[in-house]
Amino acid sequence: MSASFPYPAAVRPKDLQPIGEELAIQWEDGSESYLRLDTLRRSCPCAECQGERDVLGQLHRGPARPLTPASYQLRELRPVGSYAVQPVWADGHNTGLFTFDYLFRLAHSPPTA
Ligand SMILES: [Zn+2]
Repeated sequence: MSASFPYPAAVRPKDLQPIGEELAIQWEDGSESYLRLDTLRRSCPCAECQGERDVLGQLHRGPARPLTPASYQLRELRPVGSYAVQPVWADGHNTGLFTFDYLFRLAHSPPTA
């Protein structure tokens, strides 16, 4: 992972607001995105959700945690420094750090699966 921020500051979110089943994102350049909360949860980048790769590139997934309706309810969005947010989900999951870069990519090309 590179520590450099690949997008200009203009694409940082100015405001993040859960509205119904979506997260409304207002970017600093004035544009807006709407990201479905279930997409956000399914895209959780934490090791538990995505598995961890060992030095040989083998993917090790943790035990499958069944997702429930509460898994898609956002309790809180905690700011992490000036580069990420940490969603707290109603089922208690809160280990995913969504960098602004990742949010931007999700919002502009959400996974189709
Ligand atoms: Zn996760």
